[in-house]
Amino acid sequence: MKHIGKFGQSGHKVDDLQLFRGADMAAAARAIAECDVVRVTEGEPIEDTVRARLYIVLTGMLEVETDGHAGGSDGNVNRILPGESVGEQSVLDDAVNLDAVRAVEDTTLLVIESELAWELIDHSNAVARNLLRLLSFRIRATNAMLRRRQKLGEFYRQLSLNDTLTGLYNRTWLADMLPKLVGRARAQGSPLALLMVDLDNFKKFNDTHGHLVGDAALCAAANVIRDGLRPSDFAVRYGGEELMAVLPDTSGDLAHMVADRLCQKMREAVLFPDMRVPMPHLTACFGVAVLDPDTDETALIEAADAALYRAKEAGRNCVSR
Ligand code: GH3
Ligand code: MG
Ligand code: MG
Repeated sequence: MKHIGKFGQSGHKVDDLQLFRGADMAAAARAIAECDVVRVTEGEPIEDTVRARLYIVLTGMLEVETDGHAGGSDGNVNRILPGESVGEQSVLDDAVNLDAVRAVEDTTLLVIESELAWELIDHSNAVARNLLRLLSFRIRATNAMLRRRQKLGEFYRQLSLNDTLTGLYNRTWLADMLPKLVGRARAQGSPLALLMVDLDNFKKFNDTHGHLVGDAALCAAANVIRDGLRPSDFAVRYGGEELMAVLPDTSGDLAHMVADRLCQKMREAVLFPDMRVPMPHLTACFGVAVLDPDTDETALIEAADAALYRAKEAGRNCVSR
């Protein structure tokens, strides 16, 4: 940053500066005549780590990145054009500006020290009004940015909790939610049932029809489970071709009925309605378990897994408890 003179001799007019819109221009010109004008070269940062100041762009352009990195890539960059200012917030709350500001091109700036800025505010309603308008604009822009980020965050959170192939909840979701559902069931004294589902002879299915058809069949199986549950139940992809249904407020008998129905729907499922591939059939085993209130979610999963094993032993395409 290079000092190049005083505003009074710079040839710039007060009328062009937003801060003084509607103000007494002659008085404003007198008040800022002795203010410094500085030059910053393209790419140069404006570092105000010591004191709060207002900078008004006279020629050129500044760039403000609101997270402390000029030229950042997430779109929170504001450009400050001739007549516009930066630093008004730091003057108002007397805190050092943490935003990263740099010159986009060779730029001349009018520097208004904090004390003078306050004098201008004290003497001119128009200046105070302009600052308020500017602040309001900045707050709106910041709020809009935060809302955008929040939405993006929710989007990625959703992505991280769902399995990309089937769209069912994934293990990350399960690790987070199953302990909570167990806690809730215990607290309410309500039953919690779990169905562990494993597709039958799926290795052979893949070997016969290929992995892509296998993937499509896995999706179809996931849809059978998801579509066959109540809105209060949860369908999870536990691992490769192992799926799971978590059924809050469901007794063992009811869960067994649900599993029977799902088992039947699975064997009746039309995997490829467009007939491009020969119609293979798909069955699955279901292991049913209910939460023992004295144990935890690990024991619940183990119990469902053991039941699933018994269903496999019993010849597949069936339900076991
Ligand atoms: P069982 O009836 O005893 O369960 O036999 P299985 O062949 O289903 O059991 P196994 O665990 O030996 O094989 C599971 C197969 O599931 C092997 C694996 O290739 C397949 N598989 C797991 N995940 C995927 C997937 O995402 N896509 C496809 N196409 N296949 C998968
Ligand atoms: Mg398996
Ligand atoms: Mg299997």
